[in-house]
Amino acid sequence: MIPYGRQDITQADIDEVVAVLQSDFLTQGPMVPRFEERVAAYCGVAHGVAVSSGTAALHVACRALDLGPGDLLWTSPITFVASANCALYCGADVDFVDIDPATYNMSTDALATKLAAAERVGRLPQIVMPVHLCGQSCDMRSIAELASRYGFRVIEDASHAIGARYQDRAVGCCEFSDIAVFSFHPVKIITTAEGGMAMTADAQLARQMQRLRSHGITRDESEMTGASHGPWYYEQTDLGYNYRMTDLQAALGVSQMERIDAYVQRRHELAQRYDRLLAGMPVTTPRQHADTYSSFHLYVIRLRLGELRKSHRQVFEALRDLGIAVNLHYIPVPMHPYMRQMGLAFDATPEAAAYYAEAITLPLFPTLTEADQDRVVAALGRALAE
Ligand SMILES: *Cc1c(COP(=O)(O)O)cnc(C)c1O
Repeated sequence: MIPYGRQDITQADIDEVVAVLQSDFLTQGPMVPRFEERVAAYCGVAHGVAVSSGTAALHVACRALDLGPGDLLWTSPITFVASANCALYCGADVDFVDIDPATYNMSTDALATKLAAAERVGRLPQIVMPVHLCGQSCDMRSIAELASRYGFRVIEDASHAIGARYQDRAVGCCEFSDIAVFSFHPVKIITTAEGGMAMTADAQLARQMQRLRSHGITRDESEMTGASHGPWYYEQTDLGYNYRMTDLQAALGVSQMERIDAYVQRRHELAQRYDRLLAGMPVTTPRQHADTYSSFHLYVIRLRLGELRKSHRQVFEALRDLGIAVNLHYIPVPMHPYMRQMGLAFDATPEAAAYYAEAITLPLFPTLTEADQDRVVAALGRALAE
């Protein structure tokens, strides 16, 4: 089977992790701040808060922005369930903004329309969470303009998009958002096995997320409500979690950061090669907006079903049968039984439904060989054939 994504682990990565195993600190040592500084410098932003997963980063981001019961978060229907779950963890409600049919990211037009309607009924969101699907940035400048007009905060779910750029800035710079979140799951651009990081330009938000990742505890006297009892003293000032990243994970992350640009460049080469090889087939290849430089976490094609005699499911199954571990990113989040049973009235998202009926994710990762890519293309040709 050719997988849809795969991590790349070098001897240098292994050596860095082993060095931590032989050191004094397996967790809460020097590697986590080193990794945070490395990623923050790469993004050109002041702060990075490393946590145990991308999901944990989304959760502490929502908490730091005070999302709570009675509040509302809007995100894209075409995302991983974590983008919505982080709001539900806070007791808030979620709703979904339909996607742009060209980029499959949250549509800025749909967002503007939905905001105008929400303002009329007095139910504006506290947070909007654009998701940079496949690694291509959303239209952040327009979203930031809407944020200042309607007064919501912005968390970028940039789980797919470390290494990507938008209008000549690194995704994660937070110029158009309050917080941007990366995931370091093994299928993502770089990995720490499990892990995530919340980027922010705001020192206070960073401090809050640092406390929330470690039980809501502070050792900083200026943050305490009373006088210190002595050198052993710390205070729990908020309800936090154990969302800490280990030094083993951070060491792997620091080592992987050495190759991030090479990874993204290789993903681009392979994506362009797919574009060429798939030209002439009854599929729509990924469209790139001129403002963006994608990290190409995923290469998603859409079947032009009107030109095919096979169904979406038949093509998908044929590819799996031919040894290609294609995937589908994603089942629209509001379709999941858990989301439906919450009794929330989600707005209809017809573009997301149309996407779901046609999308297939082809294998793409930096160590995919051209020979394996040729196998994928040949298998797709056979799967599409009548
Ligand atoms: C991977 C992913 C997450 C969650 O990241 P984890 O590190 O697996 O918790 C959230 N959102 C999106 C869009 C993702 O792809």
